[in-house]
Amino acid sequence: MSENRLREAWELLVQRLVRQHILRSKEVIEAFRRAPRYNFLPEELRQYAAIDEPIPIGYGQTVSAPHMVAIMDEELELKVGQKVLEVGAGSGWHAATVAELVAPTDQPKESWGHVYTIEIVPELAQMARINIEKNGYSDRVTVIEGDGSLGYEEKAPYDRILVTAAAPEVPKPLIQQLKTGGILLIPVGAIRFYQTLIKVRKEDGIRMEDLGGVAFVPLRGKYGHKML
Ligand code: SAM
Repeated sequence: MSENRLREAWELLVQRLVRQHILRSKEVIEAFRRAPRYNFLPEELRQYAAIDEPIPIGYGQTVSAPHMVAIMDEELELKVGQKVLEVGAGSGWHAATVAELVAPTDQPKESWGHVYTIEIVPELAQMARINIEKNGYSDRVTVIEGDGSLGYEEKAPYDRILVTAAAPEVPKPLIQQLKTGGILLIPVGAIRFYQTLIKVRKEDGIRMEDLGGVAFVPLRGKYGHKML
């Protein structure tokens, strides 16, 4: 599929997500336009980028569906200058959309925030690193290989944390590594069946809001699901 066709199909999807009120703020809409999913997929899968479904990228993992990335980016209430941790880098696409919100290139570099994205599958960490570099996000996104259920203590605390795999419960280290006033988004639930997207706000205490049913691959690692 030509670049033009890919761009046109992506724009139609963006417009549909706007009509569905899934993409709502002009910043997130613009982030989706600047970081289209097709730029983060292997050649043979680019033609499927604008289908609003998860796409398998090997190792039993997927790139999340555009509507889910849109919901998460809107609910994260991202602002320029914030430091963000993503658990589950996969292809690097979601991290790039977040970078467009915390470190947009039309703002001075001194005002930029940063995205740290951690991936447990070494081959996918490498895929994310290549995609981040190829698409010009290297100075805004850092890819780390490791168990993100433990967070990433080296750069904590974070303004925002997003987890893109479903956990049995909210991992304690992630709450600890969240700033006061920060937001953590995480799918919580069983491996195959019902999971809900939880929005955690850390104020004087911890406030949790249930954003509804979702379907994510399981979180692995110390605070993840025990895989058979
Ligand atoms: N955000 C990704 C993207 O834009 O392509 C999609 C994420 S995919 C739905 C979930 C990812 O979480 C998988 O790549 C999986 O290997 C990773 N993952 C699962 N458990 C993890 C853990 N404990 N630490 C880091 N990554 C983990």
